[in-house]
Amino acid sequence: MISAGIDLGGTKIEAQLFDADWALIDKHRIATPTTYPELIVAVASQIDWVRSKSATCPIGIGAAGLVTKDGRALTANLPATGERIVDDISARSGQVISYINDCRAFALSEAVFGAGQSKKTVVGLILGTGVGAGICVDGRLIADPRAVGGEIGHIAAPASVLMTQSLPLFGCGCGRIGCYESYVSGPGLVRIVKSMTGQDVTPPQVAALRLSDPLIEAAWQVWLDITAELVVSVIMCIEPDVVILGGGLSQIQGVCAELSRAVDRAHLPGFMRPEILLAQGGDSSGGRGAALAAWQEQTQ
Ligand SMILES: [Zn+2]
Repeated sequence: MISAGIDLGGTKIEAQLFDADWALIDKHRIATPTTYPELIVAVASQIDWVRSKSATCPIGIGAAGLVTKDGRALTANLPATGERIVDDISARSGQVISYINDCRAFALSEAVFGAGQSKKTVVGLILGTGVGAGICVDGRLIADPRAVGGEIGHIAAPASVLMTQSLPLFGCGCGRIGCYESYVSGPGLVRIVKSMTGQDVTPPQVAALRLSDPLIEAAWQVWLDITAELVVSVIMCIEPDVVILGGGLSQIQGVCAELSRAVDRAHLPGFMRPEILLAQGGDSSGGRGAALAAWQEQTQ
């Protein structure tokens, strides 16, 4: 049995084919168009490419953003907000598809094939341009993966931490104020450094400079403290066996060990924290997770 995942992002749409052992056997990448009608045509063309390789395989799409219960997209990275994207892709292609958030696809892939293998409850946490998570139990995503379960980037960060450095309450792209994402994402780290030091630096520059610049190191420690509060919130709610980090900020050297120590400081005294590990799946995590979700939904 072959399964296919389509990684639908703001810059590229990549279809990936997986064999019965879930090894990547072929892929096809095109650029993401800038208008909604072109987007639907482009996704349908990737579905056609998959069907040219395997006429009957399940197809899952892992995409940035959410789909509301009435079927409308909510996304900052695709020209699709307010549109019935799942219905329109299915109508255009004549294909049954599974459509899940890209953070959930990442979490599912890591739970089954990556750093979460053999763990019961797995949280995959993306620390990138945005902040989002997926929650898996026994190798499956919880509940309805189209819903908001996992949108932990849009929980409000605690004033007790923000006030220690007099950080402003930043507005979030979701419309709320003071969300974790506004501090813990890549742009959030940039904001913290700017607020505390006056310097404009990118996350890779923070990683390079923090060992030689005490002001940037102090800002990095604040980022760790806020991110640790987010992880503690996750522990309090569902107490996973492991938290697996992905996204651009997870590539900063030593982040798992430093975040683990920050969580130990923030957590209730005397209680264990879950392991905090790096993702293992690399670039194909999203597509493989979407393919697996489709296989689980459509064949099991
Ligand atoms: Zn938000």
